Amino acid sequence: MVDRCVCAFAALFLLAGAAPAQVPASGRRYGSLLIHNAIVVDGNGTPASGPKDILVRNNLIADVIPLDPVSVGRAGASATPRADAVIDATGKYVLPGLIDAHAHLQEERGGKPQPIEYELNIWLACGITTIRDVGSDTKRALELRRQSAEGRIAAPRIFVYPMFGRVRTTEEARARVRALKEMGADGIKILGIDRDFMQAMEDEAHKLGLRIAHHAGVEETNAWDDIRFGTTSIEHWYGIPDAAIESGVQNFPSSYNYNDETDRFRYAGHLFREANPERLTKVLEAMVQAHVAWDPTMDIYEASRDLQRAQNQPWFADYLHPTLEEYFKPNPANHGSYFIGWTSTDETFWKENYRLWGAALREFDRLGGLIGMGDDAGFIYQLYGFGLIRGMELHQEAGFHPIRVIQQATGNNARILGQEDRLGRVRAGFAADLIVVDGNPLENLKVLYPTGVDEIRGGKTVHTGGVEWTIKDGIPYHAPALMARVKEIVAEARAGK
Ligand SMILES: [Zn+2]
Repeated sequence: MVDRCVCAFAALFLLAGAAPAQVPASGRRYGSLLIHNAIVVDGNGTPASGPKDILVRNNLIADVIPLDPVSVGRAGASATPRADAVIDATGKYVLPGLIDAHAHLQEERGGKPQPIEYELNIWLACGITTIRDVGSDTKRALELRRQSAEGRIAAPRIFVYPMFGRVRTTEEARARVRALKEMGADGIKILGIDRDFMQAMEDEAHKLGLRIAHHAGVEETNAWDDIRFGTTSIEHWYGIPDAAIESGVQNFPSSYNYNDETDRFRYAGHLFREANPERLTKVLEAMVQAHVAWDPTMDIYEASRDLQRAQNQPWFADYLHPTLEEYFKPNPANHGSYFIGWTSTDETFWKENYRLWGAALREFDRLGGLIGMGDDAGFIYQLYGFGLIRGMELHQEAGFHPIRVIQQATGNNARILGQEDRLGRVRAGFAADLIVVDGNPLENLKVLYPTGVDEIRGGKTVHTGGVEWTIKDGIPYHAPALMARVKEIVAEARAGK
């Protein structure tokens, strides 16, 4: 350990000759940026390896150079590359930037404004370098996508999947797809759509090369339709167990009303137990064969199984915007705010539902299915970015190894986006979307939270963790500085400024 530290220190001096190499300024792209001496967890499911140097030129990863004695001996000693700026990653982990496959750009909650900088900063500080926006103000999302691509705003990459909306005829469904393509959409999000319209719109979307994210509710269509029509990813989960119910319909009480969100979320907690396991396996197998991915958004239902946990997350103290705080309060007028009268019985059903859901995800994975990850934050007590990291913890709880969890949040999400040739990996030629983490996420995924973790070192409590640098498209952002700004935004809004 001492050797490596001395070595790293010496290397930093060597890089720039006599003077120590420059630490990057947050938000500025350099001709060359070196991340030195990092342990790397790639987005392809392979184990951690290192130490390595990662050389970024402009917006691309130019080289990933192993520094361990065996690799150096094999390849012949290679000099540490020179760079305009250097991040010393000694003792730190480098991962591909996280991808949030189910995000919503939100500039208001419940009709009250919320500055976009708030959400964008938290995303970057949580290590998110790409989002798939699955429904927001489309024109505004396209504008933010452009500004992000041009490096003019501190923001993740944005892929825009507009909400498809209501149609009345199959002709109208096809025309809507063409109009969205014309606008510049990357894909389409569907929800609550009848079978013939879904078939027509998916057919048109395939012709135009648009991907489809399906929020599969409990409705006319379920996973069998996604399998038949070629949906790219099923969002959330309902349509999967629903496709495996023996009688074809869940055993709802006579008073049940789907548009009553308390009813809907309460009986959703009974859905997996009503699915026939053999039929469920058949659904999962057919999804694998048809290349339908699954983006389960496990974090967003957690309030259903543990309301008090959801309502008392420690980061709310400094980082919960009052507009969002108000929106989270149980109120029948707000989507997802269904917790008036939530009972211990509801939570018990939901805990079982999570166990069965986790088992189904593992089975899907074992069968060769593609599992991604998104957080759907901004609803139901989930804060942007923090929700994705919580989702990673829940995938670990479902039984996935943290290496697999990181793959789901990076390389797998890149595949769902059709961007696996340039995103989601720590690999030469790929986009320079990387995070430098102060801690080992394979040991503790909580080190990814911007609020960090406490550790005992040498008998003393040390506060550590958090993403230190988020590099998006070659631009390094200092995560603690982004969160300091978030804290200011929240404090100002609370003071009523
Ligand atoms: Zn959503």
